[in-house]
Amino acid sequence: MINLQNFVQTMYAKRIEDCSDQELYYALLAFTKQRSEAKCTNDQKKKVYYISAEFLIGKLLSNNLINLGLYDEVKHQLAEAGKDLIAIEEMEMEPSLGNGGLGRLAACFLDSIASLGLSGDGVGLNYHFGLFRQLFQYHQQSAVPNEWITPRSWLTESPISYQVPFANFTLTSKLYDIDVPGYKTEKKNRLRLFDLASVDDNIIDDGIDFDMDDIFRNLTLFLYPDDSTDQGKILRIFQQYFMVSNAAQLLIDEAVAKGSTIHDLADYAVVQINDTHPSLVIPELIRLLELRGIAFDEAVEIVKSMTAYTNHTILSEALEKWPLEFLNKVVPHLVPFIEELDRRAKEIENNPAVNIIDEHGRVHMAHMDIHYGYSINGVAALHTEILKSSELKAFYDLYPDKFNNKTNGITFRRWLMHANPRLAHYLDDLIGRDYHRRAEALEDLLAHKDDAAFKQELEKIKHHNKRKLQRHIAKTQGVEVNPDSIFDVQIKRMHEYKRQQMNVLYVIHKYLDIKAGNIPARPLTVFFGGKAAPAYTIAQDIIHLILVLSQVIQHDPEVSPHLQLVMIENYNVTEASFIIPAADISEQISLASKEASGTGNMKFMLNGALTIGTDDGANVEIHELVGDDNIYIFGQDSQTVIDYYANGTYNPHHFYEKDAIRPLVDFITSDVIRQAGGIDERLWRLQDNLKHNDHFMTLLDLEEYIETKERMLADYEDRDAWLEKVIVNIAKAGFFSSDRTIEQYNEDIWHLEK
Ligand SMILES: *Cc1c(COP(=O)(O)O)cnc(C)c1O
Repeated sequence: MINLQNFVQTMYAKRIEDCSDQELYYALLAFTKQRSEAKCTNDQKKKVYYISAEFLIGKLLSNNLINLGLYDEVKHQLAEAGKDLIAIEEMEMEPSLGNGGLGRLAACFLDSIASLGLSGDGVGLNYHFGLFRQLFQYHQQSAVPNEWITPRSWLTESPISYQVPFANFTLTSKLYDIDVPGYKTEKKNRLRLFDLASVDDNIIDDGIDFDMDDIFRNLTLFLYPDDSTDQGKILRIFQQYFMVSNAAQLLIDEAVAKGSTIHDLADYAVVQINDTHPSLVIPELIRLLELRGIAFDEAVEIVKSMTAYTNHTILSEALEKWPLEFLNKVVPHLVPFIEELDRRAKEIENNPAVNIIDEHGRVHMAHMDIHYGYSINGVAALHTEILKSSELKAFYDLYPDKFNNKTNGITFRRWLMHANPRLAHYLDDLIGRDYHRRAEALEDLLAHKDDAAFKQELEKIKHHNKRKLQRHIAKTQGVEVNPDSIFDVQIKRMHEYKRQQMNVLYVIHKYLDIKAGNIPARPLTVFFGGKAAPAYTIAQDIIHLILVLSQVIQHDPEVSPHLQLVMIENYNVTEASFIIPAADISEQISLASKEASGTGNMKFMLNGALTIGTDDGANVEIHELVGDDNIYIFGQDSQTVIDYYANGTYNPHHFYEKDAIRPLVDFITSDVIRQAGGIDERLWRLQDNLKHNDHFMTLLDLEEYIETKERMLADYEDRDAWLEKVIVNIAKAGFFSSDRTIEQYNEDIWHLEK
């Protein structure tokens, strides 16, 4: 068995008792790395390369210990020396390699691929600062570099390096690996992160600004550099090509090492293109195959049989279209390949809806993926149906067999066992540990729906988790919350389609209602958390309103005992792991048709929060699984919304005129808000936007949202009935295990051996 005391003694020549938490963190890092390095890599003949611009992996210490089966023993040995693993874990920096849902999905998938014993690696970039760190200053978001790479880290330098050709120079890459140990598996998988030795953070000046032209020094500094300028767009193309050229060279080398003749490359490798960022892998693979002596026609056929694309959004601004002019500046050697692929696609059908290069000379990355991949999947049932029936209908008519759905999932190792150990242990005792590997086994909980002791325990666990969150934010933000209040949570990227602004209007409603003398049965704490893209002005305005409103409420003695508004700073995986187990209410209120799947919704359900949401994304499947009585659904459905867009008949002013709505929208620019530090420009812009544009139809669903939330808060008071709903939600969450999702990817798309 393990002997931590010996390990620490050898490393520091002192006992655990005499080490600081920082020293112990480095000792555990070294210990855990050694354990996973000792495993051999899972290298079957055929392997999936999951290429993604983001991997939002979260802190790794506890999770790797859980997967290696060492967590309890390590915790115990530390405790015997008077040390707390949780406190040691705080020393770890969270890797800043992702942005939101699709990056977190990639991380859950790596865990499931490894845990199912499949051969597959993630491939991406090693951003030195990743996504910015969010700070609040003067009631606004400010963005600073997120320095996460410490001298000792989970990264392991590999000897692998490639030459990546660009227009005027060639760059030499450098590969770092992060081990991905599966849950109690013999072998391990890896996350392969390519970097550039010449990257230099001295070029960053103020905040996250830097010289965008200095590719040699900036290439892997940041994830999603601002692309509102041409320079920014060009930098993104540099990053994308650097990522996929390395990935393509790696997969070819690995296949050849295993005996591939290249003609049979598809028997050795399958590429999953996660969103459009890695799409250039298609022409790059064809180019590299030609360099190895394969004729163009055959190269196209090979690549067609080994690449698959996952679509994550129908928002047109997120479907990348790069001007040929920019591609010519960055990767001119790739352009003839793209043009030939476009020419051939136009021979099949020349139609703007499916063309790769449009009449403005822009390359539609998703279109290239669909023509030249063998699979395209959406990420929830509704989303896939919308792709087939409207967004990508022309493609569906052309290639019906390529389309398939893979409803997203989450890894229960992180989102239950690690984030909510109390609940996990109680479930272990109640229904056994079967669900660790077979998540559907959670359905056994349905037999305990009326079990009073179980309900009482759920109350206790929730209260314990609320107190843990209370202590956490007291420490990180100096804010005190009331653990006896209802915790109502909306945490996710800030975006108008996710409609944080609708939730803020609810808080304004509640504030005015309390001012009018209607005291709620129980205090309510509303939490928000999420970063806004620095160039996304309206999203910044929404953060500003939340921060100011939070002050207004806090300083109003009539309201503050009953209502609190908290904006969590720098929302990330670590914060999510504190917040989600403490939540009572899960806010999933996107405009129907716009949220492809969501995975936050799944994490909350698994941790015993009830959903208030629209019939959108995976909410639809949650709704079907738990039934009408165990979820709070409101709002117009996706077809109505799609029709509004098609007919152009949505008119926010019509809703603004209503007595229930006007005062809430007007309050945004009221003296109360302005005198609490509100910035006129931001407040007026936000209000005007709601009244005159409201592209994501906030006002359309606002009234029903308020009614539904009030009903939900009233229902909360019937603890017995509420807890029964909680049990149904946990019991039905098994479907949303990413193990199920990955089994389906493998069955339908990858076909890897176990
Ligand atoms: C799960 C998760 C997301 C995705 O949340 P949605 O509500 O599905 O948008 C984003 N960020 C983090 C840190 C997460 O853990």
